Amino acid sequence: MLASLNELMKDACEKNYAVGAFNATNLESLTAAIQAAEETGKAIILNHADVHSKFITLEEIAPIMINKADKAKVPVCLNLDHGASIEVCMKAIRLGFTSVMLDASGASYEENLRETELICRLAHSVGVTVEAELGHIFSSDIGVGNGAVQETLENFESAEDVYTDPSVAKDFVEKTGVDVLAIAFGTAHGVYQKKPKLDLDRIRLIRESIDIPFVMHGGSGLTDEEYRIAINNGIRKINYYTYMALAGGKAVKEELDKIKAGENVFFHDIPLIGIKAMKEDIVRAIRLFSRGA
Ligand SMILES: [Zn+2]
Repeated sequence: MLASLNELMKDACEKNYAVGAFNATNLESLTAAIQAAEETGKAIILNHADVHSKFITLEEIAPIMINKADKAKVPVCLNLDHGASIEVCMKAIRLGFTSVMLDASGASYEENLRETELICRLAHSVGVTVEAELGHIFSSDIGVGNGAVQETLENFESAEDVYTDPSVAKDFVEKTGVDVLAIAFGTAHGVYQKKPKLDLDRIRLIRESIDIPFVMHGGSGLTDEEYRIAINNGIRKINYYTYMALAGGKAVKEELDKIKAGENVFFHDIPLIGIKAMKEDIVRAIRLFSRGA
């Protein structure tokens, strides 16, 4: 059933676990995520971002996402991921999304504050939750970036300019009324080229200033222990996509490699291979995130 982010976050906070958020880049990833949620009996969040429009646009996939969420046996929240403007967020709300992220983290702090405060007032008036981002969560160019900041650590003087500052986060949350906050502590979107340096203790420090659910972007590729600590320190929503997409791609390649020259290949069989492999990877992720700390 279609669910709000708040009800999912409330349960996750009470029981100290994180809810997985998976990208609906197409019908296959959407189907895999719903199947995995039903198999595990756990609630999930489905993300769609502007950058996915090269695969399918928000207008095209929103009715399918709503239909699938409505029919699902578990709660499913529909979230706009990395909304680039108030206008895109309003479009997602109009299309039936229950949650929107406004990512103004690339703008000045004042502008991020102003824009987030406005979308919170608008979204909250119709019962939709808002996620914002503070700090800089980078994107690797390997995999599907989310339209997030394309800078690297070298563009900044120190990690302090990149990672979320606890006192700034407190000011931001109090002034905007944002429901959940994506924080920067060393994770990045896409495939890690080298082992990330995570400042997991920073999550705990931010939580000492403000007790709202935190979001981890770039949730692929951490160790089980890193997930456990992150969750224990206050991460309640984990955006996870890169590794599930890789699992689907790998399975398809392996099956196609088995086909001998001259053998028939029907295209309609290919998505099924990807769905199955992605579903299995998502089941593993959901079990890990929902096990809690
Ligand atoms: Zn992200």
